[in-house]
Amino acid sequence: MNASQSAIAALTQRLKSQFPEGAVITDPARLDAYDCDGLLVHRVRPAVVVLAQDAEQVQQTVAACADMRVPFVARGSGTGLSGGALPHADGVLVVMSGFREIREVSAPDQRAVVDPGVINLSVTQASSPQGYYFAPDPSSQQICSIGGNVAENSGGAHCLKYGFTSNHVLAAEVVLPDGSAVTLGQRAPDAPGYDLLGAFVGSEGTLGVATEVTVRLLRTPETVQTFLAGFESTDAAGAATSAIIAAGIVPAAIEMMDALAIEAAEAAVACNYPRGAGAVLVVELDGPTAEVETESAQAQRLCREAGAFEIRLAADAEERAAIWRGRKSAFAAVGRISPDYIVQDGVIPRTKLSQVLHQMGELAETKGVRVANVFHAGDGNLHPLVLFDGAVPGQEARAEEVSGAILDLCLEHGGSITGEHGVGFDKAKHMPKMFTEIDLDTMQRVRCAFDPAGISNPGKIYPTPRLCGEVPRKHTADEPDRFAGRAEVF
Ligand SMILES: Cc1cc2nc3c(=O)[nH]c(=O)nc-3n(C[C@H](O)[C@H](O)[C@H](O)COP(=O)(O)OP(=O)(O)OC[C@H]3O[C@@H](n4cnc5c(N)ncnc54)[C@H](O)[C@@H]3O)c2cc1C
Repeated sequence: MNASQSAIAALTQRLKSQFPEGAVITDPARLDAYDCDGLLVHRVRPAVVVLAQDAEQVQQTVAACADMRVPFVARGSGTGLSGGALPHADGVLVVMSGFREIREVSAPDQRAVVDPGVINLSVTQASSPQGYYFAPDPSSQQICSIGGNVAENSGGAHCLKYGFTSNHVLAAEVVLPDGSAVTLGQRAPDAPGYDLLGAFVGSEGTLGVATEVTVRLLRTPETVQTFLAGFESTDAAGAATSAIIAAGIVPAAIEMMDALAIEAAEAAVACNYPRGAGAVLVVELDGPTAEVETESAQAQRLCREAGAFEIRLAADAEERAAIWRGRKSAFAAVGRISPDYIVQDGVIPRTKLSQVLHQMGELAETKGVRVANVFHAGDGNLHPLVLFDGAVPGQEARAEEVSGAILDLCLEHGGSITGEHGVGFDKAKHMPKMFTEIDLDTMQRVRCAFDPAGISNPGKIYPTPRLCGEVPRKHTADEPDRFAGRAEVF
């Protein structure tokens, strides 16, 4: 038995003595059920799975990991698309999905306090009777958890107007990697001191485990209007998007799908989008009725001026749901037209949309793969789906190559390697394209302040899996932190 195996054996024994029967899983067949998140191409069987039901159990688990220097990875619903919840082979996967109570919905101060395993949509369902909702709405909102949203700083269709998860989280109870519990942020806004909650949101499980989250609720809008606009090309749809924003209108959402994404959605859910469209936009406006009606009419006119050949305004909630059905099912729908695909996530300035889409098309053609586009056009957040057939030798590698080259395109145009899906395991290798070594070292110093032993979701975000606890090797660059051993060397 090597050192890590004996540490795991001792840890398992300790946890089994503390936890109810069945909460600590070591049976390999059952462990395999947790070997990946939504990024199916990477799989690692965890050494142990703990099904946590409350904050105390999370704390017991993390404390045991800290004592034995065993890595741990938090997992919400496992829908992440960047391998953030990919387990560690010699570590514990702390599964939060059974830890899901909505503790408070408070209309007077527009707050909800929830367990980390609570499903995103449940927060809106619980608050809507009081006239409120939770704004960040990933397309996975029916299944993803608030803990996962916080860790990924998740976005969604309505983040154009309302901002990402970080704009809606006020406080989090967190179990730090040494097993201690702290509160970051507070119910009232803008406390003095460093914004440690800001550092935690989007840290992808590398700074500790959230065990309770206080979120901001928004008033349910008086009116919502949704229309679908069909265009001949993504250029025309992109021009309409820019025109709407340039007119000073901020729709709740502007989503674009190209011809291939429409084909996939039609095959899967028969969404009946305009025939022959090279691109569609789903535009949604919400707010006071008078404002929505005026701005919706203006946005429809701008779409027509940009070349929309068909516009359908939803007359009621049923028609609105029908318009959204194609968009919401698009990722999964791509399975209808391709055996395999990679969901990429990069962001670019909105004004570069048409240029980047063209270059992406040329790139895909050169490499002999197809790319379907379905994305948040309003904020330039792209989700190219790179299609391939894993059974055809070489296709997966070419798709990976195209997928990486798309990120290069995003960077060339002043964008970023991830818009909302996080870096996780998948994109760690791309981080040096965007950040200098000093940038990365500086980020690591923050991480090391929370997790000096490097046991909280190691191997994610940063290009190599070196632990904070390792003694840094000498580095050629003249960078004092590295020489002093205060920062990690890549
Ligand atoms: C069909 C589909 C559509 C999607 N659409 C969107 C979209 O529109 N916008 C978007 O942003 N994302 C989208 N996603 C990605 C994914 O749903 C989000 O990233 C989501 O926030 C992940 O939540 P989860 O509960 O599944 O987290 P997991 O996948 O389980 O984990 C994600 C990360 O969070 C960490 N984590 C989980 N719980 C905790 C906790 N309590 N404390 C600390 N760290 C924790 C994990 O370690 C991991 O790093 C989509 C995914 C799918 C499959």
